[in-house]
Amino acid sequence: MRLLLLGAPGAGKGTQGSRLSNFFHVPRIATGDILREARKAGTELGTKAQSYMDQGLLVPDDVVIGLVQERLQQPDCRSGYLLDGFPRTVAQAEALNDILTIMQMPLDAAVLLDVPEDVILQRLTSRYTCTSCQKVYPGMDELVQSRCGVCGGHVERRSDDEPETVAKRLEVYAHQTAPLVNFYRNLGKLVEVNGLGDVQEVEERILSAIGQTR
Ligand code: AMP
Repeated sequence: MRLLLLGAPGAGKGTQGSRLSNFFHVPRIATGDILREARKAGTELGTKAQSYMDQGLLVPDDVVIGLVQERLQQPDCRSGYLLDGFPRTVAQAEALNDILTIMQMPLDAAVLLDVPEDVILQRLTSRYTCTSCQKVYPGMDELVQSRCGVCGGHVERRSDDEPETVAKRLEVYAHQTAPLVNFYRNLGKLVEVNGLGDVQEVEERILSAIGQTR
């Protein structure tokens, strides 16, 4: 299965991406996670990305296109892939099309997770994320001493989930990423899914929308 997930920050791409990647046994390629890991490791990529991420801006196209192209060439992508958070601009989507055509691994569907803006805002400003495995928690309630229930890593609010940065990220989404909905609609690849409800319910909707059953 070859999929990409579209949707505003906080629409549930990470959560659904992990579930779908397990379901289809394909790697999840999440550019945000890759960039955060690079920052933590202090690599050149991480240093380049840092100031853009802290301001809620997009990292330049050539940087992310290069890293996705490299990742798609890894052997584990031969069975399929799930792209989460990429593409985010029309230039990235066009580059991705070229890469996938050359590699003969065309997309099956672009799944749009549709969530109203008031819910997005509420989710982003109240969520916490594991700094090791990136699991997202809707609040601190189920956590013991800020430790991740999956890997034991430290859980905290992402620096770009602070209210001012969230506002910028939503503006960037509306201007630079939302046009991709029409881009994939015109290619006949767009699948729209209601992203409200519990995670399992949303996953079932996605699977049924792409013609898959459990
Ligand atoms: P995410 O975890 O997907 O919300 O991404 C966090 C941040 O990483 C974004 O706000 C951007 O600064 C950067 N980023 C992630 N994916 C991309 C992308 N495809 N293009 C440009 N910047 C990205």
